[in-house]
Amino acid sequence: MFDTLLIANRGEIACRVARTARLMGLRTVAVYSDADAAALHVASCDEAYPIGAASPRESYLRADRILNAATKLKAGAIHPGYGFLSENAEFAEGCAKAGIVFVGPPASAIRAMGGKSEAKALMVKAGVPVVPGYHGVVQDADVLAAEAAKIGYPVLIKASAGGGGKGMRVVRAAAEFAEELAGAQREAQSAFGDARVLIEKYLERPRHIEVQVFCDAHGNGVYLFERDCSLQRRHQKVIEEAPAPGMSEVRRKSMGEAALRAAQAVGYVGAGTVEFIADEGGEFYFMEMNTRLQVEHPVTEAITGLDLVEWQIRVARGEKLPLTQADLRIDGHAFEARLYAEDPSRDFLPSTGKLHRLSFPTAGARIDAGVREGDDVSIHYDPMIAKLIVHGRDRATALAKLASALDRVRIVGPANNVAFLARVARHPAFMAGEIDTGFIARHKNALVPAATVPDDTTMALAVLAMLRAREDAAIAAAPDSPWTRVPGWRLNGDAHDELAFKDGPAVRVHYRGRMGYILDLPGVSVAATATLSPDGKLVAMLDGHKVEADIVRRGLDIVVFRGAESATLTVIDALAAAEAQGGAGGKLIAPMPGKIVSVAVADGQKVTKGQKLIVLEAMKMEHTIVAPSDGTVMRVRFKPGEQTAEGEELVVFEAAAS
Ligand code: ADP
Ligand code: ADP
Ligand code: MG
Repeated sequence: MFDTLLIANRGEIACRVARTARLMGLRTVAVYSDADAAALHVASCDEAYPIGAASPRESYLRADRILNAATKLKAGAIHPGYGFLSENAEFAEGCAKAGIVFVGPPASAIRAMGGKSEAKALMVKAGVPVVPGYHGVVQDADVLAAEAAKIGYPVLIKASAGGGGKGMRVVRAAAEFAEELAGAQREAQSAFGDARVLIEKYLERPRHIEVQVFCDAHGNGVYLFERDCSLQRRHQKVIEEAPAPGMSEVRRKSMGEAALRAAQAVGYVGAGTVEFIADEGGEFYFMEMNTRLQVEHPVTEAITGLDLVEWQIRVARGEKLPLTQADLRIDGHAFEARLYAEDPSRDFLPSTGKLHRLSFPTAGARIDAGVREGDDVSIHYDPMIAKLIVHGRDRATALAKLASALDRVRIVGPANNVAFLARVARHPAFMAGEIDTGFIARHKNALVPAATVPDDTTMALAVLAMLRAREDAAIAAAPDSPWTRVPGWRLNGDAHDELAFKDGPAVRVHYRGRMGYILDLPGVSVAATATLSPDGKLVAMLDGHKVEADIVRRGLDIVVFRGAESATLTVIDALAAAEAQGGAGGKLIAPMPGKIVSVAVADGQKVTKGQKLIVLEAMKMEHTIVAPSDGTVMRVRFKPGEQTAEGEELVVFEAAAS
């Protein structure tokens, strides 16, 4: 029996595990990299131990250092969280050898499910339906191409060792197969150190439905129902829900039992998830088993009222499962939205930087966060900022809560997906439960609107925020002076000012005393008054219409939040104007720090619009830089293998005269 738990992870999941461990009276130990010395997960544990440099390979993937920390600090058990070492069989064995309980399945079960190819072969034997495809050992390019043709296009190439959507490519025609295969193998090799792939029939409009299973070491097993994780971008989940919309009791039972068969076929113990892909007709096929706690486990907790981390720890202590299948019930409906530092308008490219503002609703939602205001989202780790979980008596109620909670999230710093998530939550098709893995791509125009100029109301709110801040400061500085109350005052004339913004027309402000103004906006003039509280809440009256917004000011930027939507207006000053000039011209710059994978063009080469120029690997994903227009590559500034910093010019490009 252990009384100390070491958590071999970081971010939200480390904080999440620590919370339950402490509730259970365990002493908690965090491990941290150099980049994480002041991280929230360190603050969430009783003790913490350093394990190396920022790069995961130097810290969170260093089984030796983590085991050493556990021994030193007398931790009787290790919880691996998800990602990192959670599905590493050698690590589980290392724990056993050191006399430490691994809070997870036996190494043999991890190994059996570790390779997607081997797992599929096993499932066929256990009578679990699998996606038609090739999961053999022969990895010859010609053989793979022949297998793809046999399966019939479109096909999906997957990394056998894969996870996190890495090394996954859809191929729609034989002519593209060789190139996509090479890309998938490269990505797989770099992410997992293993280039093996499998090929599957690519299902159109499928749903991702997974079953949470739990087994103890006494031969008992239950399924805690399903989660629908169809809402994905880049084959990665963004919103999950439980139960799955439209699931019948009969199908729930047959999927639940198939999932348990899958788990029992490998002698599973602990929490696990069996992922299925379901076609339009509702037929379901095994995709893979995640032999760990899943990111989206909170939706299952919400509908069952259980604490899955508590169950994991109890099973790890050798206890029997607390409940049987007959005891388990679904209560209402739950959603989880993953708040990511990523830019929906740039194909969800991860973003980094300091979280200048980070605040969450204080009621109506569960927030699992791994960072706090002032922390950095760095290039080293997953760009997830937090998870927001809601529960309601039915799907519509829960969805309304999701939208409302997202409206109250405030993030200023890295690009993020909060407004995008809120648009999904309010999309009529999503509200109707019409979901499949192609949802985001299909509704992209509604979910990721093209950048627009701020509307009159937003401009008015930004101007009012500036005016109030300035006048409130002036009044505070000289409370008795009559002059401070009449800014822009002119002798014999209309008292007015011009406020100019970088990406829009100027606004003329006429002062009307008693903190009132007439604002000449691009489209209309309005009579306005406003109050601004110290926490940034702006309440404005615009021609008698009350409008509220949250304002965050950062240097020359004014961020105006109305619900989940925000607009950033940049005040013009001389310095900013000079910068705008210097930054002009279609430069081909690195969108983030990374490594050059390949260069497809030579100096002096003429290229056409959209032609591939250079491939960059950043945050374990490949990004292709293409020609923005027809033109000439004057100079390629990097060679394959070289590192590049964010914002560095990759290719000197001259557009053809049009
Ligand atoms: P879930 O199915 O629970 O959503 P994901 O597949 O999204 O899990 O992965 C959870 C986290 O673990 C993500 O941060 C992902 O990048 C990371 N991850 C998943 N598999 C691996 C792996 N094999 N190696 C490293 N990180 C991984
Ligand atoms: P990972 O290890 O990255 O989680 P999975 O095998 O679980 O990889 O697949 C991730 C996602 O890719 C699925 O949730 C689904 O959206 C999509 N996907 C996987 N297999 C198929 C398939 N055969 N056809 C269509 N989409 C698929
Ligand atoms: Mg998966």
